[in-house]
Parts: sequence; C-alpha cells; structure tokens
Amino acid sequence: MIASLRRKLAYCSFCGVNELAAVPLITGTGTAICVDCAKAGLAAVEGRRRRRESSGRLTPSMLLARLDEHVIAQGAAKRALSVAVYNHFKRIGRTGAAQGSPPSERPARLAKSNILMAGPSGTGKTLLAETLATALDVPFVVADVTSITQAGYAGEDTESIFRRLVTAADGDVAAAQHGIVFLDEVDKLARRETGTLDVSGEGVQQSLLKVLEGTEVSLAPRGGADGPAGAEARRMDTSNVLFIAGGAFVGLDDIVSERGNARGIGFGARVEPDPETTPDAEPQDLISFGLLPEFVGRFPVVVQLEQLGQAELRRIITEPVDSLLAQYEELFRLDGHVLSFTDEALTAVAESAHSRQTGARGLRAIMESTLLGLMFHSPDWDPGQRVVVEARHITAAVGDDSALPAPTSASPSGEAQTSPPLEAGRNREHTERRAPLPRVVQAVAPGRPV
Ligand code: ADP
Repeated sequence: MIASLRRKLAYCSFCGVNELAAVPLITGTGTAICVDCAKAGLAAVEGRRRRRESSGRLTPSMLLARLDEHVIAQGAAKRALSVAVYNHFKRIGRTGAAQGSPPSERPARLAKSNILMAGPSGTGKTLLAETLATALDVPFVVADVTSITQAGYAGEDTESIFRRLVTAADGDVAAAQHGIVFLDEVDKLARRETGTLDVSGEGVQQSLLKVLEGTEVSLAPRGGADGPAGAEARRMDTSNVLFIAGGAFVGLDDIVSERGNARGIGFGARVEPDPETTPDAEPQDLISFGLLPEFVGRFPVVVQLEQLGQAELRRIITEPVDSLLAQYEELFRLDGHVLSFTDEALTAVAESAHSRQTGARGLRAIMESTLLGLMFHSPDWDPGQRVVVEARHITAAVGDDSALPAPTSASPSGEAQTSPPLEAGRNREHTERRAPLPRVVQAVAPGRPV
C-alpha cells in the first residue's frame, strides 16, 4: 500500500521533495520541480545574465586595475590586453543588434580581437589570461596545443577544449560561449627553422582556424560526467569565445630587430629603444617564426611580455593579492604559528629564482624547498611559535634540517624564547634562552616513529 503510494507521488527532480511537503510542485510530462528549486534556478540564471552584462561594463582602466593587483610589471601587455578585452566584450554586446539591418544603416562590423602573447616562460602569460577571466567572471580553460591531435588520434582534439569550457561553466553552454580559452605553447606549432615541415603542428593550426574565427562545434557526449555516449550532441558556437594564445617564441626578438623595427617607430626613425615604447612583434614576424599566415591572421592583437628582472621577482613574492608570502604566512597561521622573512631573505629568494632563469615559476619552488622541513614539523609544535627565515636559510641545502630557521615562542610579553627547530644543541646562535623543546624534537628523534 505504502509502496504503491510512493510510486504515484510526484517528486522534485532537483531536491527530491515530494508533493506531500508544504512546497508546491510544478509538474510536467514525466518530471517535476518544486517552487523553491524553480526560484533558485531563476536566480542563478538571472545572476549569470547580470554578471555577463556587467563584464561588458568593465572599462580598460578597471581591467588594468584588476591586472595590477595580481600581475607585477608587464605594463605594456596589461594595457593592450585591457583594451582588447574591453573591445571584445563591447563587440559581443553589439552582436545581434547589427544583424538584419540593411547595410547602409548597419554600423561597421567589429572583427574578433583574439590576442597572442609572446614572452618567456614564467612571465605571467597564463596569469594574465586567468586574472582577466576572473575579473570578467567568465568560464576559463587552458589548453596546451601540443597535446591537440587531429581527430581520430589519441589525445585532445579541438572539440574537447570546448567540452572542458562547458564543464568550467557548470554545463551552461550559453555561458561557455562567452568564455576565454588560453591556448598555451602555440610557438611549438611553428615550422622548424631547419625548413622541415612540421606536419602535425601545421595540422593543429589548421584544425584551430575555424574555431578561432567562430564556428559551431558539436559536443558529442563521451560517457562519464560528459553524459552517456551516444546521447544527442550539444552544439556550441565559438564566435564569441575569446582566444588568448601564449608562447615563449624563443628567437622572435631577433626576427623583430632584424626587421629593423625594434629601434624606431614610424617612418624609419632610429631612436634608442625605450622599454615603454618598444614595438610589439608584428604578424609578419610570427609568420617568419614559422606560423601559418592564416593562423596569425586570427590574432589581430599581439603583445609581448618582458623577461622579469630580480627586482620584479622580489616584488612578486610580496605584492600581488594572495602573494606567495601571504600564502605561506597563512599556512603557518592556520597551525597557530607566525612566519616571517627578513628583507635579505626575500632578496635571496629573488636572486636564486633569477639565476635559475625560470621566471617567477622558480620562486615557489625555492620557497617550498626552504619551508618544506618546517611545514613538515610545525603542525607538531606547541601553538604560538614564531619562525623568522633569514637569507642563509634560503641558500642552505635542501633537506638539511639543521639549517632550518629556529622557531621561537611568540610569548605575550613579547620576549622571544628561542628553541632549536629539531634537535637540542643544534643552531647554537639561537639558543640564548631555550624554551621547552617543541614537540617536533621528539617526533624526529632517532628510532621514534614520525
Ligand atoms: P607563463 O608566462 O609561462 O604562462 P605563468 O603565468 O604560468 O607563466 O606564471 C608562472 C607562475 O609565476 C605563476 O604562479 C604566476 O602566479 C607567477 N607569475 C609569473 N609572472 C608573474 C607576474 N608578472 N606577476 C606576478 N606573478 C607572476
């Protein structure tokens, strides 16, 4: 009896509440939704619409301000990107309004402003694209073009980029159609200097041409989270997707200066290069580099990023919102401890990263290896320890626990009580007045399980 009653009850397909509950149900053919879920759905759609509209209202100066919060240096690239992205969303806002009008009354058609960023690895290309997507609140994916293979082969095909974009948009195809795709490593698609034709690279460029311009892609479900394989394919239009391509383009500078433009602007003027006004690479330079003219033609905006100097690397550690230093301080704070770096230590981190020539990417690796031992032990310490990282700790060998900075208990009196980090008797210079050993000492004592 109860079983037959259950079978007949209508349920909200979203939250499962049944028609006996106080919430009214709206029923359809074979499905139902409760009023609460319907309201929540409407609010979500409305929120998305408002966010999409407001993204078009972010002016270039507002976008630049957001980039400045997260990205150090790269002033020229940030300005160019802010304008290109603003124009892109202005164009999207206009799409539709211009359609259907007779040509005489129709305002000029605005071309797509896909962007290509050329600059050394670890200088902020991905960070710039990601920060823009966050500022605009649009779905964002990074696609490594070297992993794209033509349909029929193993690996990622161009459609799977958009499948991921829809996933990043929580399944909302309309939102994905206004998203940003960052195509990484496009320089690797170029023909080799030796003159040998890199067929696969050219093939990938060819396969991207249509989607860069704007086309309908079919997102056939492939099973799993994608939906059951064989189910009806969803379609997505890429006309309003903003594509930002990035690559190191090693050797492009030489091509630019060989062309003779690097030292002058307009009518062959030859002036000393000014980093603020040094012209960006032009499409013809990218073609000389080995990319297909049709591919380069799909990126009307080309910006160059500068190699980061030691001073800029030093700023990257502390200045951006959620900087590396802020993140590590927070990790220690969550365990009840206080972490700080001396000025000299920060400079040593920047110096070390600069010498590795991996751009800002090296910074995290150095901070991580410096702090690894401490992060391993600090959860076992009594709360309230203070750790001061000095320059000598940065240069110390990784894994040499005796070289770790010593934690001192941050006593309310402000009087520092120092204890060696791991073992009594080590780090003599820190032992003027020894606090009870932090538990970490016991944790690593020989023979004791860690
Ligand atoms: P790439 O140019 O190779 O795309 P990324 O943007 O991926 O470099 O940067 C690698 C790491 O370095 C990221 O953690 C990023 O936050 C940091 N980074 C790189 N450049 C900058 C910069 N100009 N300002 C702040 N952080 C940066």
